[in-house]
Amino acid sequence: MNIQPLNTWITKDNEPLLIAGPCGAETRDQLLQTAKEISEIKSVKLFRAGIWKPRTRPNSFEGVGEEGLQWLNEVQHQYNLKTTVEVANAQHTELALKYGVDVLWIGARTTVNPFSVQEIADVLKGVDIPVFVKNPVHADLQLWIGAIERLSLAGITKLAAIHRGFHYAGKSKYRNKPLWEIPIELKTIMPELPIICDPSHISGKRELIQSVSQKALDLGMNGLMIETHINPSVALSDAQQQLTPIALKELLAKLVYRKESFENVEFTDKLSQFRNMIDEVDDELINVLKKRMTIIEEIGHYKKEHEITIFQLERWQEILKTRSQWAEKLGIPKSFIEKMCQHLHDESIRIQTDVMNKK
Ligand code: PEP
Ligand code: MN
Repeated sequence: MNIQPLNTWITKDNEPLLIAGPCGAETRDQLLQTAKEISEIKSVKLFRAGIWKPRTRPNSFEGVGEEGLQWLNEVQHQYNLKTTVEVANAQHTELALKYGVDVLWIGARTTVNPFSVQEIADVLKGVDIPVFVKNPVHADLQLWIGAIERLSLAGITKLAAIHRGFHYAGKSKYRNKPLWEIPIELKTIMPELPIICDPSHISGKRELIQSVSQKALDLGMNGLMIETHINPSVALSDAQQQLTPIALKELLAKLVYRKESFENVEFTDKLSQFRNMIDEVDDELINVLKKRMTIIEEIGHYKKEHEITIFQLERWQEILKTRSQWAEKLGIPKSFIEKMCQHLHDESIRIQTDVMNKK
């Protein structure tokens, strides 16, 4: 896939791309005031605003439409900020192009629908514009990748993914659970694709935005998109999660920016010592696993000879309970050990099934 790094078209060196602006454009005043204050934070490179708002229920604020695109032109000219808006269909895309919006983004509710993504990609054939693709509402990595591929096939090369968390049916302190392993897997599959975090939609409330932003930077994500409103308490959408420009400035100042690597001999020596230690421990771990599996094979033969079943519920319950207790004494979280035991048990069942099936 042909993807141009962010620093070839918007950022310098390896600095993260900072995007700020309101959830939605509401009035000309609100938009220009917010933009004015954001333009004073020099590290912010892109101004966001929803012009068409996807809302869960009808009769909520659905965005100001085309008029807002004119206000964004004023933002570009008065405050020298690049702009980005969400497009959800061909018509939005055509209008955004007509008004010279600098960057487009595809929202979570649109990424779920390949028809809509294709419709947008078709309008963009032959157009040189950057496009960001938010993850789909639910944790389906293939759907996320599919949307990125559709844009790439249409010839878009200034591409990035936006991680905004995932719908979660259980209890969670987040509005959208981050499930960090999913953007990490995306990065593993597509190493050249920049990933920007949207801590606002992950958090759903202001208080969590600082820690989610830091976590994203600690994981090496390439930017942050943070909803910022001149007066969040009266915002027509996402009031709980928007920051004032002043709060945004404070949040950005507190962030610790880490480097991916460090060109210092002493540091790299120490790092490779740690890595050697981990290599040795992993080697031991694999040998121990082999030992466990050999015993399991023997048990399999023994059970076969005596014609008893492979799965023994009581023994499994005992394993789960005792291993969690042993681990907790050492400060290893129970949830981790339970997951590990589950993997070990699955493999144990597989090995014993093989033994039983052998003639
Ligand atoms: C937004 O960015 O305001 C928005 C609607 O986000 P999402 O598509 O992530 O829900
Ligand atoms: Mn929003």
